[in-house]
Amino acid sequence: MSFVLKLRWFFQERWKFYALAVSLMIGVNLLATIPPKMIGNTIDHIQKGNLSASQLHHTVLLLVLLALLIYVMAYLWITNLFGNSALVEKLLRGRLLGHLTTMSPAFFQRNSTGQLMALATNDVLAIGQTSGYGVMTLVHTIVGASVVIVTMVSLISFKLMLAALIPLPFLALAINILGKKVRVRFLAAQASFGAMNDHALESISGIRVIRSYVQEAHDLKAFDKVTSDVMHKNRRVSMLNALFQPLTSLIVGLSYSIGIGYGSYLVFQNEITLGQLISFNIYLGMLIWPMISFGEFINVLQRGSASADRLDKALTQKPDLVDVDTPTTVAMPERIEMKGLTFTYPIANHPSLVDVSFQLERGQTLGIVGRTGSGKSTLLKQFLRQYPIESGKLFVSGVPIEHIAMDQMKAWVAYVPQEHLLLSKSIRDNIALGKHTASPEEIAHAVEMASFAQDIAGMPDGLSTIVGENGVMLSGGQKQRLAIARALLIDSEILLLDDSLSAVDARTEARILQHIRKERAGRTTLITTHRLSAVSHANWILVLDEGRVIEEGTHEELMHFGGWYREQWDRQQMEASLED
Ligand code: ATP
Ligand code: MG
Repeated sequence: MSFVLKLRWFFQERWKFYALAVSLMIGVNLLATIPPKMIGNTIDHIQKGNLSASQLHHTVLLLVLLALLIYVMAYLWITNLFGNSALVEKLLRGRLLGHLTTMSPAFFQRNSTGQLMALATNDVLAIGQTSGYGVMTLVHTIVGASVVIVTMVSLISFKLMLAALIPLPFLALAINILGKKVRVRFLAAQASFGAMNDHALESISGIRVIRSYVQEAHDLKAFDKVTSDVMHKNRRVSMLNALFQPLTSLIVGLSYSIGIGYGSYLVFQNEITLGQLISFNIYLGMLIWPMISFGEFINVLQRGSASADRLDKALTQKPDLVDVDTPTTVAMPERIEMKGLTFTYPIANHPSLVDVSFQLERGQTLGIVGRTGSGKSTLLKQFLRQYPIESGKLFVSGVPIEHIAMDQMKAWVAYVPQEHLLLSKSIRDNIALGKHTASPEEIAHAVEMASFAQDIAGMPDGLSTIVGENGVMLSGGQKQRLAIARALLIDSEILLLDDSLSAVDARTEARILQHIRKERAGRTTLITTHRLSAVSHANWILVLDEGRVIEEGTHEELMHFGGWYREQWDRQQMEASLED
């Protein structure tokens, strides 16, 4: 039942198709009761010796016509029903991806990629099967069985029907117990399939690390363990599945024995004719399918509803962050102000930012420096609205950031993350990711500003070169400059550069920074870096340590202060002069 509820939207939308398929199935089942009766009648005529040639011709012709009609009708309902299966799979996959795009990083921390892939493949498939094949088996069971039973009673004998069907309740009971077990085992098998996906993904994307540490054999062994687990769990499911069919055969065999034994007795008692006994046994044979269908139905339904539960769990997770009911409209992000913000990641037990404050006017540049792990990236991420923050701590144009529509914020901000995120597309598509309509001139300009033009000239297909998964064929510095070109192309109000030039040499870095300064005059930029020369021109610099601001000021003020910044600056200058 819960399965139907979860897919109510689909059944409501497609009820006409289901109604047509079910009506056709009912028709087929009704028509199928005619031939056995005709055969029984013919046999009675033979026994009485009054079968005429024309009667026989008639019967044969009618049987052939019926078979053809049933064929056409069955074709129609099968295509109709299984079309629904394919459609529900497509719709569910669309829903799932649509939902995933609204989820924040915390969701992906809770749900691994492999598990999400298992949802989109195996689970969606199981749901599709239930809404096609499952519906078929259900209708088959109900309609098939009731039509046959009614025909048995009305045309032959109530007593005989009752006797022959004594074993049936045992079948229902056994299938019910088995079905519950199937569900439990199937859930375990799906979870294990998800874990296998995770492992495969990691092995493939991490293949270079694995090779360089000569861990291939070890990784293969570990993978073997995971696949064995999947095999073992799936085997446990199929072991139960395998029980369904023999069980049905057993029960059907019992029914047959009773049918033939008790039926013959009734013939001797002259309660039924020989023809009726034969018709009855053909009807009993026709009950096999509904019974097998019943077993199949329970089996498919259990798997489908287990999968529907899994999918539902993912689909009903709300985004961690939603817009306030009536967001405040802000025309332009003028001043940015942080007032004593303390921030802790959802699963962390100590804060990554502690009581951080600063102010930045539009057009200014903020530099954020400090030791590794001091909270620089965390500070930048506050502008991406990925995690909930305490209200009234971060303001844009005097409005608390949680009152500004998230789409508005995203439209203002361009972000160059510390870890590169490239798609396995061409360089051009990667650069134009945030602005598909960019003209070739705009792209060329962005490339120029990011000092990336020379590199592209050396690529086999220039801008059309495919970079491979996550840019495997680019150097670290090339990836960084591609990411910068991508951010500069959208010409945003606020630019966040998270250690974005760490892999290029000092001279190239200086050139790019100069371009950025010129290009972005009048707009706001936030830069984090380990190389202090990248922020020496900034209007204000924060030095973080364990999430706290330990020094702040302009470059001159910090040099004068003589703390961490000064010490670091002197050391870096000395290293630079040694290198020269
Ligand atoms: P680096 O110079 O190495 O880039 P950083 O200054 O950018 O370092 P952050 O990435 O901001 O440092 O991390 C600050 C602290 O927050 C670290 O202790 C880190 O372990 C923690 N942290 C970062 N990201 C997460 C996360 N998603 N969940 C939990 N803790 C996190
Ligand atoms: Mg960082």
